[in-house]
Amino acid sequence: MTQHPTSTQPIISPPDAEARRAARPVVCYEVAGLPPVDMALYRTAAQSMHKVAEVRVPPRDARAFEVRAGQFFRITGVEGPQVGDLNLWNAADFSERFYSGKTRQLHASHVTTGHRLWSNMPGLRPMATITHDTLGWYGWDADGAGVHDVIGTRCDPYTNHMLKGVDYHYCCHSNLTRALVEFTGMPPASAETHVHDVLNVFMCTGFTHDTHQYFMKASPVRPGDYIEFFAEMDLLGALSACPGGDCSASHSDDKTPCHPLLVEVFQPAPDALAGWRPPAPSGYGGGHGL
Ligand SMILES: [Zn+2]
Repeated sequence: MTQHPTSTQPIISPPDAEARRAARPVVCYEVAGLPPVDMALYRTAAQSMHKVAEVRVPPRDARAFEVRAGQFFRITGVEGPQVGDLNLWNAADFSERFYSGKTRQLHASHVTTGHRLWSNMPGLRPMATITHDTLGWYGWDADGAGVHDVIGTRCDPYTNHMLKGVDYHYCCHSNLTRALVEFTGMPPASAETHVHDVLNVFMCTGFTHDTHQYFMKASPVRPGDYIEFFAEMDLLGALSACPGGDCSASHSDDKTPCHPLLVEVFQPAPDALAGWRPPAPSGYGGGHGL
């Protein structure tokens, strides 16, 4: 019998508690059924590419950028260790956007080369494929942490106000909102509704062993490290250089050193993509048994 500190009644372990705990874990999704990823095609295409655009994201701020289907884009650490919060939208229809939760379920809590960034329902298709990750060597450390997480949502002023009682306007949620307003001209209240759970680029996170709480630790990213994506559709992206800097101590304040991030867009030779087709939306018809 145990007493949870906030439970109103004692919690009684059943006699077969250990047997119940020993049930075999089963990976939830039959991921072997995912559409195959032709990494050889991407690799060949990347060899022919040249840079066509770049955007520098200032510290504690965000910038939006466009990538056409069939182009590559890279997010690179410059000047110092820095975490980035990435949003992606279908450039032709903002209601289709990156789906962090499903990406986590289909791949893992942290993503790397060969994983894809999936869109929300009803599209549910790859928006981008990760084609290179210079931090791919990191794997899982002794704390259970990895890099590039799809666990965390994004730092935001509402949670910050609730926990600290102060207004801070340069959380990633606000930075992404401002970037979308500046790029599209849409009203701030509309832009905010389009901001969604992010890919935490370069962020090193996990769950504590004892209480399973979300933790962060100093990002292993160094200037020159990058993560590279292939755009499977026309994309609007927005990237925030998180006020947490390398996320080794605190965030949502002006104390932590922060650095810029660089976004570069690359165009491969057209014939290098001869075997590539943009992913179609989900084949499910949306009947829902109605
Ligand atoms: Zn942030």
